[in-house]
Amino acid sequence: MAYPLQARARSSLSPLSTKPTTSNSEWRCTRCDKLLGVCRDGRMHLRFARGHEYLVGFPVQATCRGCGTLNHATAPAR
Ligand SMILES: [Zn+2]
Repeated sequence: MAYPLQARARSSLSPLSTKPTTSNSEWRCTRCDKLLGVCRDGRMHLRFARGHEYLVGFPVQATCRGCGTLNHATAPAR
């Protein structure tokens, strides 16, 4: 009864001041701060619409879905 399902519908809610509970680090757009992917186990986990997911190695480049900026990630963030 205590789980707000509406809050999980979109990942727009991002706790800014709380520590991440896992070792995963988010990769965000340098321009609009949109979440591009999540780094885990030395690889970047990219998630797209319709359930398409990609697990890629570094370096990785991806275009932001929001603003179209090409983002680079050269190494796993720590
Ligand atoms: Zn962007």
